[in-house]
Amino acid sequence: MKRKAKTTSRTSKRRAVARPARAKRAAVKRRPTPAKFVFTFGGGRAEGNAGMKELLGGKGANLHEMAGLGLPVPPGFTISTAVCTHFYANGRRYPSGLRDEVAQHLQRVEQVLGRTFGDPSNPLLVSVRSGARASMPGMMDTVLNLGLNDQTVQGVIALSGNPRFAYDSYRRFVAMYGDVVLDLKPQSKTDIDPFEEILERKKHARGVKLDTELTADDLRELVAEFKAAIRERKGVEFPEDPREQLWGAIGAVFGSWMNDRAIAYRKLNNIPESWGTAVNVQSMVFGNLGDDSGTGVAFTRDPATGENIFYGEFLMNAQGEDVVAGTRTPLPISELEKENAEVYGQLVKIRRTLERHYRDVMDIEFTIEQRRLYMLQCRVGKRTGAAAIRIAVEMVKERLIKPNEALLRVEPDQLNQLLRPTFRPADKEQAVREQRLLARGLNAGPGAAAGKIMFHAEDAEAAAARGEHVILVRIETSPEDIRGMAASEGILTARGGMTSHAALVARQMGKVCVAGCEALTIDYTAGEMRVAGTPAVLKQGDDISIDGTTGEVFLGRMPTEPSEVVRVLIDRSIDPKQAAVYQQYAQLMQWADRTRHLGVRTNADLPDQCANALAFGAEGVGLCRTEHMFFGEEKIGPMREMILAETVDQRRAALAKLLPLQRADFEGIFRVMQGRPVTIRTIDPPLHEFLPHDEAGQQALAQEMGIPAKRVHERVEALHEFNPMLGFRGCRLGIIYPEITEMQARAIFEAAANVIAAGGKAHPEVMIPLVGHVKELQLQADIVRRVAEDVKREKKARLSYAVGTMIEVPRGALTADAIAGVAEFFSFGTNDLTQMTLGVSRDDAGRFLMPYVREFEIYQKDPFESLDQVGVGALIRIAVEKGRAARPKLKVGICGEHGGDPDSVMFCHRTGLDYVSCSPFRVPIARLAAARAVLLGTPSLGTTE
Ligand code: ADP
Ligand code: MG
Ligand code: MG
Repeated sequence: MKRKAKTTSRTSKRRAVARPARAKRAAVKRRPTPAKFVFTFGGGRAEGNAGMKELLGGKGANLHEMAGLGLPVPPGFTISTAVCTHFYANGRRYPSGLRDEVAQHLQRVEQVLGRTFGDPSNPLLVSVRSGARASMPGMMDTVLNLGLNDQTVQGVIALSGNPRFAYDSYRRFVAMYGDVVLDLKPQSKTDIDPFEEILERKKHARGVKLDTELTADDLRELVAEFKAAIRERKGVEFPEDPREQLWGAIGAVFGSWMNDRAIAYRKLNNIPESWGTAVNVQSMVFGNLGDDSGTGVAFTRDPATGENIFYGEFLMNAQGEDVVAGTRTPLPISELEKENAEVYGQLVKIRRTLERHYRDVMDIEFTIEQRRLYMLQCRVGKRTGAAAIRIAVEMVKERLIKPNEALLRVEPDQLNQLLRPTFRPADKEQAVREQRLLARGLNAGPGAAAGKIMFHAEDAEAAAARGEHVILVRIETSPEDIRGMAASEGILTARGGMTSHAALVARQMGKVCVAGCEALTIDYTAGEMRVAGTPAVLKQGDDISIDGTTGEVFLGRMPTEPSEVVRVLIDRSIDPKQAAVYQQYAQLMQWADRTRHLGVRTNADLPDQCANALAFGAEGVGLCRTEHMFFGEEKIGPMREMILAETVDQRRAALAKLLPLQRADFEGIFRVMQGRPVTIRTIDPPLHEFLPHDEAGQQALAQEMGIPAKRVHERVEALHEFNPMLGFRGCRLGIIYPEITEMQARAIFEAAANVIAAGGKAHPEVMIPLVGHVKELQLQADIVRRVAEDVKREKKARLSYAVGTMIEVPRGALTADAIAGVAEFFSFGTNDLTQMTLGVSRDDAGRFLMPYVREFEIYQKDPFESLDQVGVGALIRIAVEKGRAARPKLKVGICGEHGGDPDSVMFCHRTGLDYVSCSPFRVPIARLAAARAVLLGTPSLGTTE
């Protein structure tokens, strides 16, 4: 009793300090319409709905929606994101009137449930849950059982008749409050959780293994010990006053919006800081109230494969995150039918209700309190790329959604997962024979990955930055690890289920993941991992291979092999009819092709690359780099002769040797492309790239050509440039040495004529690189057109062809009207155009470009990966406009790396390009991105600033 008096006087002092809020409250009452900051849900009401995510956050909005649907949601209220915004705009102060509004809404919950917050005989307990607009896994951990203190716990004992349960709830609350609100958590990566430590000590002292084996008295002692730890390490008393607890937790949620891991997550996922989080205060239901209670999580379909089955896990006599924390291994949801058929049936019905209502796969949390089911969360379920495609295609068949919606349900980059490699069965069998199959975990993120073990996210990040392949191995992952996870090829955890943090985040990132591999014992301090039943001791840096499709973990590094889609399309080793995944892919692609306006071509230099790209749906070649052909065995010799030539005659002699070789290459490409347009770029790189730079290589070359080594050396020296990217390259080569362009044009047109003569088709488009001035193009185009006419005459061939240019020099873009007078097409070479517009050398940007993006946010993304739409984009727009003004039928495409980047593809669509061109494996991604660009319409331009 004494203690109570003391506490009350302390808290009343605090209230006195908080007086200013009361003064403000009076001011609010004078205002005509006070802003509404708090919204009620549950108990037969819902002030919000799923459409109000901006204001109520994702979790809140969906709680309101479920309550509105009449699902059993424990009543509570949401404090809106507007409060978070106000909080940070006003030196971390709440809007006036908020306290009153919260008090009123709390009162309503009390009335609905017939309990009173802080009432020692009949206490209401609540959870305080964060909820941003976009789900941010673990941004601020939820505090459960709030409202418990030494008095109210007696009320819970009296009401439940279960002291063990009451003290179990109480010790969980004190630990969560200490961790989340009072910040008593592990400080370094090898630290142990202070509350865990005390708990382990207690279990050890009592000679038990599981939390559930501790008695009520043990748990009551834990409460006192936890509080003592808080006092000792943080120098504060654990607050006994429920209202102080409540506002402490609310403050911690808003405060967590600006903690390091939340900021890191926002950066990685492009979530603006201005969005803010909401806070949900919800009456507690208890899954730890005995063996007829429990808690679980589920997906309405399998989030790894997309299969239409109810998919989830649960634990009886457990609370909150016990299921995902990995301390006890949960049971599959189908087992719930045996535990309680009625609750299971109800859940299955809710599964249907939610899918029909949201028309999507949902991820749900539920709790069973003494045989009664409660819904605690639902949100659109994260899924693998493979699952996304299957779900989208099947939901169209089930008439839940339309094909256009299906296209919007799959992120273009998710297609990568269908194209991702797997391990070869033979390699796996051998690994098994050699006893290198170490263990089996859950198949949480499909695909195959191999690399060096790293036990800490920071180490994984550092190793990946050095270019190493890394597998991040953790007991379990937490939001602090996300950057390390992003840098790794794959993630392996010892604990946690299919819905653990590691599994969720890996699937979202498209990473290979094996979770809950319980055979592993990981010792962070020693930096090693042991595997039960094997003598293996693995250290940081050792090689392992993980199969996220099967959950297997292997010692050593195994090579990977192509996916099903790749085997159907490229290897042609599987019959498409036998390939279910392929068929879903093909269906989605068919819808995409029907919808998109942009053409999709490929960047390919060799016939087999062209064939791959065609299989992936390419409609032409957007960029064939001829210089890649010169590196072939028998070609580099004549090429070097050509470069070392001292007279025009010598050069012509060397070029004459190259002509038949290039012609054969082009014939191969034309045959594969069967009359589809093939854009061939004339020689582009600086010539010194073809010469040997080392002494030995130069000696050998000299010998081969029968000239003194000194000559070779001199020529290499003479070709040296301080700034080769801005030097003697591109059309400049062909202007100074017109015979090179002549030879290339002849090879192209003779190849086309030969293919046509043999009954085939060919449509070459000759592209002149690095044009900044129309005269440059004119000089080169004249040569190309003259040679074309010569070949037509000589071969009596009917050739159709076009001559155009790459727009990759800013001056070229700015004078596009003049250039279009000569060019029949433009293709934006956005690699060079980015380099020259930003004045950033792509080859030397490593040192500063990462911090430019990550740290200083100068660019939102690496401008060499995703087009700088504001800067480079402006030049593209100018060039398109001026070019089309001069030549309305000008064909315009893009052939830089950006042609396969979904955001850049959207930009190309909005800017009215005719096609994009990208590497063969990105063709499907570009097709889908192009279709989505049509469906998403025209958002505001210039999105990067
Ligand atoms: P997260 O965003 O990390 O999932 P949640 O707010 O959903 O955090 O809560 C964490 C866990 O606590 C979940 O398992 C959730 O179902 C449970 N939980 C939250 N509120 C309550 C409540 N009022 N009663 C019972 N369990 C709750
Ligand atoms: Mg959490
Ligand atoms: Mg949750």
